[in-house]
Parts: sequence; C-alpha cells; structure tokens
Amino acid sequence: QTIGACLDATVERFGDRDALVDRAQGVRLTYAELGEQVDRLARGLVGAGIEKGDRVGIWAPNRSEWVLVQFATAKVGAILVTINPAYRTHELTYVLNQAGIRMLVTAASFKTSDYVAMVEAARPECPGLEQVVVLGEESWDALLARADEVSPERLTLLASELDPHDPINIQYTSGTTGFPKGATLSHHNILNNGYLVGEMCRYTEADRICIPVPFYHCFGMVMGNLAAITHGACMVIPAAGFDPALTLAAAAEERCTSLYGVPTMFIAEWNLPTFGDYDLSSVRTGIMAGSPCPASMMTRLIESGIEEVTIAYGMTETSPVSMQNRVDDTFEQKVNTVGSVHPHLEIKVVDPVTGETVPRGTPGEFCTKGYSVMLGYWEEPEKTAEVLVDGWMRTGDIGVMDDDGFVQITGRIKDMVIRGGENVYPREVEEFLYSHPDIQDVQVIGVPDEKYGEELCAWVRMRDGVEPLTAEAVREYCAGRLAHYKVPRYVKVVDEFPMTVTGKVRKVEMRQVTVAELG
Ligand code: ATP
Ligand code: MG
Repeated sequence: QTIGACLDATVERFGDRDALVDRAQGVRLTYAELGEQVDRLARGLVGAGIEKGDRVGIWAPNRSEWVLVQFATAKVGAILVTINPAYRTHELTYVLNQAGIRMLVTAASFKTSDYVAMVEAARPECPGLEQVVVLGEESWDALLARADEVSPERLTLLASELDPHDPINIQYTSGTTGFPKGATLSHHNILNNGYLVGEMCRYTEADRICIPVPFYHCFGMVMGNLAAITHGACMVIPAAGFDPALTLAAAAEERCTSLYGVPTMFIAEWNLPTFGDYDLSSVRTGIMAGSPCPASMMTRLIESGIEEVTIAYGMTETSPVSMQNRVDDTFEQKVNTVGSVHPHLEIKVVDPVTGETVPRGTPGEFCTKGYSVMLGYWEEPEKTAEVLVDGWMRTGDIGVMDDDGFVQITGRIKDMVIRGGENVYPREVEEFLYSHPDIQDVQVIGVPDEKYGEELCAWVRMRDGVEPLTAEAVREYCAGRLAHYKVPRYVKVVDEFPMTVTGKVRKVEMRQVTVAELG
C-alpha cells in the first residue's frame, strides 16, 4: 500500500474523528478535513509542476501544515526531503544541492531562525531550486490556489501510477556522530514501520498521541504521524519547538493517551517544579527512544501511571524502529532493555571486527534485516555499501542480547572509551551516576590521556538548588561501587549539554570542548 491510499482508507473509515491538533496555531482537523486539505495541496503541487520522483524539501518546525505537506507529497509521489530546522545557510545549501530539491517549503521564522533570509542567502548557490513556498504567506496560498488547475481525477490517476517501493522520503540522520546522511526510504519501509509501532502501542481511533519530537525526524513523522494514520489516531502538536511545560499541558488538556519523547525531554518534563499540576491520568502509553533511556526515568514514567510506556530502539536507516518493548513484558524488561526484535524483522549481533555472529550474552554490534531497511543513502553508493551488507544494516551500536531475546544497548561503537586497555561503555557509568541524589542528568565521554590512552569525563547537570559536585565528591561516590577504571577522572558541571534538534546529546562536541579546556 502507498501512504496516500492508507490515508484515504482512514479518512473513509474515521472521517469524523479528530486527526490533527496544532495547539500553537489553534488548528483542529478531523480526518475528513485532513483528507480534504491534503488532496487540495496535492493538486496544488501538481499544478505547480511537481511530479513523481521530484524532491520537495520541508524546512520548518512542527506545525499542522508540515503534516499536510508530508501526506500531499506522498500522494503525488514526490520525494519529501525533511530538513533539520536547526540548520543554517551552510547546511541548507548542502542539502538543497545534495538532494536536488526543486521546491522548498519553509516557515517564515521561528525564535532566532529567520528561514526566509537563510533561503535567500543559499539561493545563489542552489541553481536547482526553482520554487520557495513560505507557510502561512502569499506563496502558500498561491500554491493551494493552483489546485483549481488540477482535477481530482488527475490525482486518482496519479495514485494508480505509484508503487509502494518507490522512494518517498529522504530523511537525514540526527548528525549525532558527524555530518547527517540522507536515508532514502519507501512507502513500504515507513508505512509498515509506523503501522507496527502503532500495533505495539495498541493504538485505535480512540488514541491521541502527544508529539513533541520534531517532525523532520522519523520519531515524529513515522512513529507519530504514520502510526496515527494507520490506526485512525489523532496527532497532537504541543508547540512548534520543544517546551516541557507546553508538552505536559497538551497531554493533559487534550486528554492524550500517548506521550512521546527522547530521554532528555521526559527528564525535563518530570523535573518541572509544576509537574504535579498536570493531570496525566489519560496517558496510557508512550514511547521513549532515540538515545540511551535511563532505567530511573522509565521507572518514574511507569510509577506515574503510564503503565504501557515502552522503550523503542531504532535508527533513521531502518525506518526507524527495530526493537521495542511489548505491553506484557516484565517490569525489569521494560526498564532495563529496549525490548526484543520487532515483528517481521531480523536482528543479529556480530563481532564488529570479524563480522561473525557472537553467542547470546556477548556484546557485539547489532545488525538489522527486513522490510524496514532503507533503499540506501541518497546518491552516496560508497557510504551505503559501508553499512548495508547482504541486506543487513550495520547499526554502529553495541549491545547484548539475552537468552530470551531482550536487548540492552550499551552504546555506540564510536562512543566506547578504551581506558588503559579496558573497554568502558559510557552508558554504564551514566546509569550508575543517575543514582546520585543531586544529579539530574549526566553524560560521560572519553578524552585523550597520555598514560591511559583515554580518561573518562562526566558532564553533570545538578538538580535545582543543590551545590555543584566536585570531581573528588563524584569519585568518592563511585569508589568501591564501580570498577576503578570506570570512575570518571574529570567532572564538569554544566547547565546544558550540546544537543541535536532531536534532543540527542552531541558527544562529539562535548569531547572537543573538554579537550580544549584540558589544554
Ligand atoms: P548520525 O547517524 O547522523 O550520527 P544518529 O545515529 O543519532 O545520528 P538517528 O538515526 O536519529 O541518528 O539515531 C539512531 C541512533 O540513536 C541509533 O544508532 C542509536 O545509537 C541511538 N538510539 C536510538 N534509540 C535508542 C535507544 N532506545 N537506546 C539507545 N540508543 C538509541
Ligand atoms: Mg546513525
């Protein structure tokens, strides 16, 4: 099935149910209204000369029109290139050219980002960019007006020419470990993943999903929007950018049944001084994913009454989810693992050097095979060949699978620290430090050291109103409870970590900062 056909079926079945709520803009659409607006925009795109396979970029924070563009491009068969709203002119120029974008849809501005000015700055360098449409402005109305030139029958005819295996998205990875790569994904890849994520969360048309994660990334657009349309559930956008208070307000006031977030988002929400003011009794399920999920945060979510909340593991290249907890997993499995393999996918754990499968219980690199594996990185055959071997996607993540198939992710190969010949997974040290009563959030990195090759440095965010911890105090806390080589040598107390827009900590940047400070 194509995404457009799926949306049509849902509009048919659940036309009078809520489909989309955009709190910031005060927009509320039923599925019938969403379907109608998507079709109009799709016809507008055709009127503007957009054809199957053309690349259309979207560069905007979360808002209702983002969702319209997602589904309208899918109906036309145009390849939607989702661009990180944190990009500046330099990165935008790269993506516009790399993906060969003909039409760019953007927002006027958001907070400190003047998108229009940056597009104008990039334009002379991007000869392939023909049209720029600014949401909410004249050019957007003009695009919609072009729908009059195209009959609904034309859209139906176009739909019959689409194939579920056509590329439909170029989604750039988060750029956590370096420059983002454009994963090319088909209807088949992402629609099925969205559907299965929704099945794991037991969604029905009664569900309302609070989505504070960015749409430009698969967490928002697949696990959110596609899980919603495959089940008739409602997408709730709490705000354009992430705001912990607005997210909780949306979850409470919209009576959401599901709440999404990367760990840092949940941590920020649950630590708000006003947390107790929000009535989250409607929230039954949710997903924490995207980076290592602290067991303590998972425990707090379950104890707050979100009993069916799950951890999911995935990556843009696999549409994204490949592992997730099931509702009936034990408490221990829910808080300590990323669950087990998703339906219809295969997972193997290999020695990252030899590529041989390792026995259960032995750490190794995870590889994923099956319907959700991307078509490849857009126009980067070499990079694709490095990660895709015989249909297996190498994740670059290290973890352990137990006898029952439950998986603990210990970290990224790139983040592993080798101190004096001992492999240290920062994740384990972070988990331990979370148990310190004064520590709100912690990230551990490796920095070069003459004697040991690498040493550990912990970046720490303190809880409100407590004294900053010294390195001595942290080491004393660890002494005797953590192997000596896992005890951080350096401690840096900070207010914030350097983050990607998807809410992931950029350890690369932390490492650079620490190395510079150490001289
Ligand atoms: P880049 O590939 O550009 O460096 P990225 O890998 O962060 O960035 P994404 O595709 O958004 O880009 O994220 C996938 C990665 O996120 C996984 O490879 C894994 O390292 C991490 N991840 C996702 N979910 C989890 C989870 N539940 N636990 C631990 N790590 C996770
Ligand atoms: Mg990656």
